[in-house]
Amino acid sequence: MDIKTLYQEMGIRPSVLKFGSDIEDGLQERFAAIDKTAEYNQLKVIKAMQDNRVNADCFHFASGYGYDDVGRDTLEAVYASVVHTESALVRPQVTCGTHALALALGANLRPGDELLSAGGKPYDTLEEVIGIRPSNGSLAEYGITYRQVDLLPDGTFDFDGIRAAINEKTKMVTIQRSKGYQTRPSFSVAQIGEVIRLVKSVKPEVICMVDNCYGEFVEETEPSDAGADMVVGSLIKNPGGGLAPIGGYIAGRKDLIDSCGYRLTSPGLGKEVGASLGVMQSFYQGLFLAPAVVASALKGAVFAANIYEKLGFKVVPDAAESRHDIIQAVELGTPEGVIAFCKGIQAAAPVDAYVTPEPWAMPGYDSDVIMAAGAFVQGSSIELSADGPIKPPYAVYFQGGLTWPHAKLGILMSLEYLAREGLVKLS
Ligand SMILES: *Cc1c(COP(=O)(O)O)cnc(C)c1O
Repeated sequence: MDIKTLYQEMGIRPSVLKFGSDIEDGLQERFAAIDKTAEYNQLKVIKAMQDNRVNADCFHFASGYGYDDVGRDTLEAVYASVVHTESALVRPQVTCGTHALALALGANLRPGDELLSAGGKPYDTLEEVIGIRPSNGSLAEYGITYRQVDLLPDGTFDFDGIRAAINEKTKMVTIQRSKGYQTRPSFSVAQIGEVIRLVKSVKPEVICMVDNCYGEFVEETEPSDAGADMVVGSLIKNPGGGLAPIGGYIAGRKDLIDSCGYRLTSPGLGKEVGASLGVMQSFYQGLFLAPAVVASALKGAVFAANIYEKLGFKVVPDAAESRHDIIQAVELGTPEGVIAFCKGIQAAAPVDAYVTPEPWAMPGYDSDVIMAAGAFVQGSSIELSADGPIKPPYAVYFQGGLTWPHAKLGILMSLEYLAREGLVKLS
C-alpha cells in the first residue's frame, strides 16, 4: 500500500494531504534550522551524560530513605551540566512544574520579602502559589508580598517600570519564558538576559528565577546561560522527552538549590533523602530524547501555523516568526471550529483515538473548555495535545508531538475535521 492510500484509510482525504504536502515542501529550510538546534542540544545532553559518567548502576531501583541514590545524584549533576549551573534538583517527589516553581519560590523567600514578576501576570497555577488569588498556604499567607510590572502594549518588557519597581524588599524576580495561554509573545533567552542584566545592575543580590516550562531545547542556550540564578520546569513537558512519568526540576546556584532540597524534604535532611523509586531510566532516557522530541513538536507548530495562516486564520506565533517555546495558537473564530480541530487531534492519537472530546465546564475556567489528548502519560503536553476555551476569539492552543510524523498526522486530521464540517475551503 502506498502512503497516500494509508493516509486515506486513516481518514485523510487526498485534497487535505495535498494541501499539507505543499505546505511541508515550503518548510524545508525552517525544518533544517530546527534540526540543527536539535543536533546541538543532543550533543550537549550526551556530553553531560559522558562527563558525569552515567552508567548502568544509575538505573537501579532505590527505595526507602534513598541515601546515596547514585542514579538520582548523577541525574541531578547531568541536569546541572546541561544547563550550566552549579546544582540541580530533579526528582519524582517534585510532582510537576507548578510544584517545582512553588518550591523554588517558597524555599528562597522569607516573611517580609517581595517577589517581583517582570513580565506581567504569571501562569495561572502560580496565582494561587503567590496568593494573587487567595489560597491556602500561599506565599501571601506567609507575609511575602508580590508586585508585577506589566508588559508594554507591544508585548516587550517595561525596563523603566522594572527599574522603578525594585525596592529594599525585593528579594526575587521571576520571568516566564513561554507565553503559556496568554496572547503575548514568548521571550527569547537573549531578551530574558537583558532583563536579568538590568535587575542585577539595580540590585545585584536579587535572585533571578526563570519559569522555563515549554522552553527547554527550543534554542541552543537556556536562561541559566543568560544569567538566571534558577531555571525551573516540568518533566511532563520538554525535558522529560515524553518518557518521564512525573517530575519537575530546578537548576541553579548551589545555595538556592540546597534551600529547595530542605524545603522539599525537611530542614536538616535536604537533598540527602528521597529515593528515586525506579523512575530513573525514564528520566535519563527522556532527557536523552528530549532535543529530538522538542524538534518534532516545533516542526508541528510551524507546520500548523503555515497551514492555518494560509487558510486565513490568525495564528500566534505567525507562520514566519522565530520560536521560543512549543505552543501554537490558532484562532478559529467559531465554537464549531475549535471543536472540530480538537476532534481531529484526538482522532490522530495513538491512545484513546476512538473517544470524542466534548466541551465541558472545568474547575478554574470561566467558560466551557474542550481538550484533546491521547497520551501515554496522563496530561502530558509534550505529547500532541490541544485545548480550547469555548469563548471569543475561539482560539485553540496546541502543542507537542513526540515524533514529527505524528504531529503531521494530527494537524492533517484537524484540517480533515474542519473540512468535513465545511469550515475550510481547500481550493
Ligand atoms: C505548564 C506550565 C507551568 C506548570 O507546569 P505543570 O507541570 O503543568 O504544573 C508553569 N508555567 C508555565 C509557563 C507552563 O507552561
